[in-house]
Amino acid sequence: MASHRWPVHIEVRLKPTSTARFDTISELVKELLEQDETLYIPSVLSGWETHRVLRQNVEIITASESSCPSHVLPVGEAILEIHIYQPSQMDSSEDWIGGRLDGDDLSPATVCDLPNGSLEGVWDSLVYEDEIKPRLLNYIYATLLFSDADVDSNIVAWNRVVLLHGPPGTGKTSLCRALAQKLSIRLSSRYAHSKLVEINSHSLFSKWFSESGKLVGKLFANITDLVDDDTTFVVVLIDEVESLTAARTSAMSGNEPSDAIRVVNALLTQLDKLKHRKNVLIMSTSNLTQAIDSAYIDRADIVQYVGLPAQSAIYSILRTCLLELVRVSIITSVDILDAKQAEADVRTVAMMESEDEDGGTGGDNEGFINQNRSRRVSVLLWILAGKCKGMSGRSLRRLPVLAQARHIGVSAANWSSAVPSANGGGARRGGAS
Ligand code: ADP
Repeated sequence: MASHRWPVHIEVRLKPTSTARFDTISELVKELLEQDETLYIPSVLSGWETHRVLRQNVEIITASESSCPSHVLPVGEAILEIHIYQPSQMDSSEDWIGGRLDGDDLSPATVCDLPNGSLEGVWDSLVYEDEIKPRLLNYIYATLLFSDADVDSNIVAWNRVVLLHGPPGTGKTSLCRALAQKLSIRLSSRYAHSKLVEINSHSLFSKWFSESGKLVGKLFANITDLVDDDTTFVVVLIDEVESLTAARTSAMSGNEPSDAIRVVNALLTQLDKLKHRKNVLIMSTSNLTQAIDSAYIDRADIVQYVGLPAQSAIYSILRTCLLELVRVSIITSVDILDAKQAEADVRTVAMMESEDEDGGTGGDNEGFINQNRSRRVSVLLWILAGKCKGMSGRSLRRLPVLAQARHIGVSAANWSSAVPSANGGGARRGGAS
């Protein structure tokens, strides 16, 4: 009986200097991978550097996602979906809708080419307990499938609008950008170009209020121009979407209610027009769930809550911070276990300690935890993660620099010796949160 085969997405990033044809590189990568026996997902692939053409043109190859439930897959059971991409090195353009007004610090809309060098790695750096990332990707695939099959949108309706909401600093904006980047890579064989248009609704509706009507018109005229080119995939990111409601509310209590309401309604109408276009996705974020305009929520196909990270996500975020400090030699090299292993070790230590208390064998918990630095650091990090519950991802990523500042007397070379032992008095020091 033929075994099931699983699609595996292989992402191949070309060097900025490469002029190679994408299909040539794709063929070479495929040939090379088919010679392997096993794929680990996710993983950064190696071994291809010995091939001259690949070495000259390729920067990195990753096996990124698969619906296969196992992380290890025989190559024979994989359907290799190879995506070749060359990120643009251009920054986003700030004056996309005609420049800023004097004194304004934030442009109401920017546009950038995708995939973009500045967004590399963002997707992988975001850690969520639940399946938010694959769920969002699957949603896009579902809408593409329906569009391709020409499903009648009067019968089966979808709007191509996603809303992420939750506390500030939980990675909503980053996730939207990262998803846009991911899609541009995945869809590169269908769309020659991809663009990310970022609308900051706060600055669109507050600072520019007197100009808002004209701006919304101009903004959507520009977006429509982009979308009219059906070789371009366009992701529109509307940040702080609750400002729509704020604009309506302030309009109600102000002198010219009809003007402001007209502007918000114009924006909603423009969004409605975009839903019929295959090559557009609208993503939005909000920090104030209760304050979002119900007319907007109604339009969203997916309303996803993005909450504060739980202990294992906190651990993973702090782990990536430590590994980065190892990479740049601020911390001496150490393997840090993954969250599951660290949690298991913490349980083992707790069990040994309770056996000790029961007057048991005088368990060798100290020996267990001190037998290697990797386990010791991982257990301490898990304990620290527990103390950081309630912090956002943004605050967590700031912790290492604060910790370094607090221990400024400790030289970088001595950092590892500053990591206290698990059950010694030093644990209290390590618990700085
Ligand atoms: P929000 O839009 O929810 O306010 P941002 O996207 O601006 O949050 O996130 C700010 C930074 O915090 C991100 O660049 C990211 O480094 C970090 N961050 C937030 N949440 C997470 C997370 N779940 N995993 C990893 N990093 C996170």
